[in-house]
Order: sequence, then structure tokens, then C-alpha cells
Amino acid sequence: MEKKEEYLYESKATANMKLKDSLNPQEIIEERKGFVCYNSQNKSGTLRCDENSVSGAVSQRACVYCGARVVLNPITDAFHLIHGPIGCASYTWDLRGSLSSESELFRNSFSTDLRETDVIFGGEKKLRAAIDEIFIKFHPKLIFIYATCIVGVIGDDIDAVCREAEIKYPMMRVIAVKSPGFSGNKAMGYRAACNAILKLIGDRKSDKKVKGVNYLGDFNLAGEAWVIQSYLKKIGVPVVAKITGDGKYEELLKAPEASLNIVQCAGSMEYLAKKMQELYGIPYIRISFLGVEDTENSLLQIAHILGGEDIVEKTEKFIQEEEDKVKDKIDFYRKRLEGKKAAIYVGGGYKAISLIKQFKSLGIETVMVGTQTGKPRDYEIIKEITNRGTVILDDANPSELERFMLEKGADILVGGVKERPLAYKLGVAFCDHNHERKHILSGFIGALNFAEEIDLTVNSPVWKYV
Ligand code: SF4
Repeated sequence: MEKKEEYLYESKATANMKLKDSLNPQEIIEERKGFVCYNSQNKSGTLRCDENSVSGAVSQRACVYCGARVVLNPITDAFHLIHGPIGCASYTWDLRGSLSSESELFRNSFSTDLRETDVIFGGEKKLRAAIDEIFIKFHPKLIFIYATCIVGVIGDDIDAVCREAEIKYPMMRVIAVKSPGFSGNKAMGYRAACNAILKLIGDRKSDKKVKGVNYLGDFNLAGEAWVIQSYLKKIGVPVVAKITGDGKYEELLKAPEASLNIVQCAGSMEYLAKKMQELYGIPYIRISFLGVEDTENSLLQIAHILGGEDIVEKTEKFIQEEEDKVKDKIDFYRKRLEGKKAAIYVGGGYKAISLIKQFKSLGIETVMVGTQTGKPRDYEIIKEITNRGTVILDDANPSELERFMLEKGADILVGGVKERPLAYKLGVAFCDHNHERKHILSGFIGALNFAEEIDLTVNSPVWKYV
């Protein structure tokens, strides 16, 4: 531990030298060993994943409630009422880069602010009073009530409170989100959020069908959902509902009319897509709009599925035009980045896969890759597309990330707000690819922004002075 702390204040090169002498398999706790491997490209080897975090391992994952909030918060005209202590509600605007085309309501956190007496005598009374107050002051169409840890402990029946409220205020939907923080892992929160969306949409199939898509798992960071929506519009594919970036109550209710669900963030939304297939008969595909290659493949896939020579032709033409706009500029950055090494630690497996490809297209080798909620299928693909010796980790902790970044000599880490300090303390460049960012990284324009940002940070003169 002492040695680790020393590294925080040393240059990457010095720390690397020391690490060579001090590598010790004991640095990874016994219970975590099945979740970390060097890629041997052995197809029979399996990495443990999709499980609860190991106790005491200091996971980088957020709690169940945070998982639910990530997914639901971009529904812009909903009230997000946090039933719990005020601290849980601290997740408010400016922390997240989701944008809205209309209501700004979602940028607020409303809380029942549970105190000691509520914990002793129960918080349902306070929750009812909060719903009454919201209705009287704002007349909203939709409230999500999030259960936090303490609500799970004291056992408030938020389902009953929501039912009562819907009877009392028939014009308002009041939907419980079962998300006590301790009740599982972040992925359970995604599932709780998806169940809340299903409850909102209901189980009716739509007779009216639109030859268009629902766009699942994009949270409209910096307006990315609008970028993709504009691409789809240009190839003649309308978006019926965006779930949940720039999501709106009325729009969500129309979701059963779509002919296809396209899923960007599979980790959070594949469950919803599967349920919508069962309930409304809407097939789904996993797509990714990260990087030129994946953007092109995704657009073509959508065009072929929705059919019509005209759509496919339009798509091919559109792809060529957009690629021409960014190709030379990306090539310029590629020349400056070739030979660098990247480390990736992100939420979902599909994003990690896209990033590995994107780095490859820039001449950068991915030497460490991990996810918070990747599935076995994601890790199989990761094994196939990374080189032998690449470190692969599921649900890593800061100590593991630091250790492997140093061991593999990573020049840049791509991650979220929790990973940023790890990189900077080690003198490694960092790229924020999470929900806090305020710049577009999706689509053709996003691919160019990404290359530019990686160049700016990796080749920054600041590293000479670390
Ligand atoms: S729900 Fe629990 S773990 Fe999550 S923020 Fe609140 S107290 Fe913390």
C-alpha cells in the first residue's frame, strides 16, 4: 500500500521501473482473480462477469439507485422524486451532459429528505405529502419515485403509495422504481429503470405501425441522439421514440408503433428491448454509433432490415459523403497517434468493443480493457479483437486499474468521472467518455472529435513536466 501511494506522485516512467521490481500477484485479491485475465486468445477460457461485486474490493460501479437514475433521468418532462436522505438526491443538473429539446424539469432532483424520525416511524407519510405538493404546484403528467437504501431497510410500501396517488390524481402517472442502493449491482438499477418504462408504456400492442425505429440506450449527451436522429432522417428512417435521451412522456407512449428497436447501450437497455419484443413484437438489433466503422455498419444494418432499395442506396450515398468530410482530418490525427497505447474502462461491453476498434483505426493498441457491466458475449468479442497479453478486467477497482495501466505502459485511459483522477495521478492522459461529458463522440462528427481529443491530450506538452 505504501508503495502504491508513492507512485501517485511519481512520473509514469519512474513508477513503471519500480513496478517491474514489485509486481506481485497478491495485489489482486483472491476473490477477484477470476474477473481479471491476460488475453491468451484461448476460446475455452472464461472470464467471470455479470455478477455482484466482491465485498471489500472497492468496485468502480455505482449503486442500484444510480443505475436506475442514469437510465431514467434523461426523460425530460418527468419529475424525479428521490425517496430517501438528501444525499442520494445530489445527482442533479450539470453533473450530466444529457440535453433536452423542451422541458428542463429533469435537471432538478426532488427529495423526500428522510430524517431519523422518518426512519423510525416510516417515510410513507412524507412521500404522500411530497406527491401532493408536486401535483398542486406543477400538475405533472409523470413522476418517478426512486426507492433508496434506507427505504429498502425500513420497508416503505412505495408501490401502494404510487397506486393511491394514481387513483387520487387520475391524470398523473406515478411509477415506483425499485432501486435500494444495496439490493444488487448497478445493472439491477438498469433493470429497475427498464421495468419502470415498461410500466409507463403499458402492455398494449399498437395496430398502427411506423416504418421507423425506437432508439434505445442513447442518453443524448451533448445532443448525440439528435445527431443520430438527423442521420436516420437523411436515409429516410424516422425515430418513433428516443429511450431515454431527450425522452418525453408522450413520445414514450408511442414506442409500440415502431418496427425496429435499435440498441446503443446494450448493458442498460437490451433487457428493455427483449421485453418489448415479447410484449409488442418489435425485433431489436444492437448497434453502435461510436467510430466511423461502427457508424457505417449500424446505418447499413438498419437500412437493410427496414428494407427498400431506396433506403439502402440513400444510406450508401450518405455514408460516402459523411466519410469524405472526416477522413482526411482523422488521417491527420492517426499519423500523430500511431504506436500509442490505450487503456479502456467503461460501463458497457459494447462501448468497449467500439472503442477498441476506434483506437485501432487511429493506430493505437488497446493494452487494457475493462467494463462495469459487460456480459460473457461482450468479453468473447473483446478477446477476439485484442492482442495477446491485453489485460481484460470485469468490475475492476482503482488498485487494479492503476497496476495494469502502469504495467502495460498505457498512454491514455478512457473512462468516466471516477477514473479521471487515477489517470492524472499516474501522469497518464485521460478521455472522458461517460455521461458527464459535454461534447459529441457519436457518429462521424463524434469520430473526428474523438481523434482530435485523443491527440490533444496524449500529445499535450504537459506530460513532459509531470
Ligand atoms: S441509494 Fe444507497 S448507496 Fe445509493 S446513493 Fe443512496 S445511500 Fe448511497
